Amino acid sequence: MQYTQAIIHYDEITLKGGNRTFFENALVTNIKKFISEINYNNIYKEGGKIIIDINDHTDIKKIREILKNIPGIANFHFAVSEEKDLEKINKKTVELLNEFLQTENKETFKIEARRSDKKFEFKSPQINAKVGEYVLENTKLKVDVHQPNLEVVVEISQKKCYIYFEKTIGIGGLPVGTTGNLISLISGGIDSPVASFMMNKRGAKNIYVHFKNKNIAGQNDGQDKIVKLVKQLCKFQGKSKLYIIPFEEFQKEIIANIPSKDRMIIYRRIMFQLAGEIAKKEKGKGLVTGDSLSQVASQTIDNIGAIYNKTKLPIFPPLIGMNKQEIISIAEKIETFQISILPYQDCCSFLIAKHPETRAKLDEIESLEENIHIDEIIKRVVANIAPILIS
Ligand code: ATP
Ligand code: MG
Repeated sequence: MQYTQAIIHYDEITLKGGNRTFFENALVTNIKKFISEINYNNIYKEGGKIIIDINDHTDIKKIREILKNIPGIANFHFAVSEEKDLEKINKKTVELLNEFLQTENKETFKIEARRSDKKFEFKSPQINAKVGEYVLENTKLKVDVHQPNLEVVVEISQKKCYIYFEKTIGIGGLPVGTTGNLISLISGGIDSPVASFMMNKRGAKNIYVHFKNKNIAGQNDGQDKIVKLVKQLCKFQGKSKLYIIPFEEFQKEIIANIPSKDRMIIYRRIMFQLAGEIAKKEKGKGLVTGDSLSQVASQTIDNIGAIYNKTKLPIFPPLIGMNKQEIISIAEKIETFQISILPYQDCCSFLIAKHPETRAKLDEIESLEENIHIDEIIKRVVANIAPILIS
C-alpha cells in the first residue's frame, strides 16, 4: 500500500512553553534541508506533530534513514490517510494490516484511537471497540491490549484520519541550531566524534577543529580520516565547517622548552587557546571535547583543571562520566566507530611521555609556559586559516 504521510513526533520540544513555536519551526526548517533531495509534496505542522505529505515517487527507505538521524525527532511513522468515516477507516485499516502481514509475522494487535477533532461522532474508546472488532473479524490477528505485537494508531485529526503502526525511534533531544555554535575539538579517536554527536542532540551546531602535525601525520594522511568522520557527523547537523590547524610549530617550540612529562598538558592548553580564536571567528559560545574522567593521563581531575583553565569559554565534555564501553556503543550506533579505528598518527598520542604528569599544578604550568614563545605563531596561523566545507 502506498503511504501518504510521514508523521513526526517530538518530545522534549513540547516542554518548551512559550518558546515552543521557535523550536518547532527550527525542526521543520532542519527537516526541509535534510530532505531537499527527496521527492515529496508538502511539510507542515499539525496538532503537535510535523507531517510530510509523500507521493508515489518518495524514496521511503531514504527518508527513513534521514529522519532517524535528525535531532529533535523522538519517533515517526509512515501512515495512510482516510476520510473521517468509520466504515472507510475500518476497510483501510484491514487492507493496510493484511498487506503488512504478507511479509511480517505478527499475531496480536490493539487499536489506539487518538482524537484531536473532538467533534468526531465517536469517542476514542468507541473507535477502539469498533475498529478493533472489524480487524478481529477480517485479519488473522488476535487482540492483546496489554502487550500487542502491533499497536495500530487511528488518529482523528482536524482534516483527516491517519492510520499507522510501524514506529521508528529517532534521536530525540532538540533541533540543531537552537542552542548556538560550539567549537568541537575532533581528534580522529573514538571519543571526540561521540562528544560532538551528544552536543548536536542538545541542539548545538559544531564547528570542527582538528590540530595536525604534518611531520607526524604526513601531509595528506589522516586528514581523509578526519574528513570522513565529519562527513558522517553531517548526518546529524547537516553541512559542517572543519578547520585543520597546523600544530607542528607549536609542538616544536614545546619540545625544545618543556620537560616531556608536562608537554601534553601544554599542548592541550594551546589547543583550547586556538579553539578560542576560532570561536571568535565563528561566534562559538563554548568548546566541546571528548574527555572522559581519568581515561588517560591528560584527563585526571588535576590535569583537566589545569587544561580547562586556559580559556574563559565554557567547556563541554559530554562523555566525562561515561565508561569506554558506553562510548563505544554510541560510536557504533552513530557509525563513527569504524572510521575512528582506521590507523592514524594523532599529533599528541605519538609524542606521549613514558611517565606523564597526572597531578598538574596550574601555577607550575603557567610558569613553564613563560619559556615558550608562541604569540606570533598563533597570530599567523589564525590569520591564514580557512575552513573546509563538508556535507
Ligand atoms: P579521542 O578518542 O577523542 O581522541 P582520547 O581518549 O584519545 O580521545 P586525548 O587524546 O587525551 O583522549 O584527547 C582528549 C580530547 O582532546 C579529545 O577528545 C579531543 O576533544 C581533544 N583532542 C586531542 N587531540 C586532538 C587533536 N589532534 N585535534 C583536535 N582535538 C584533539
Ligand atoms: Mg585521542
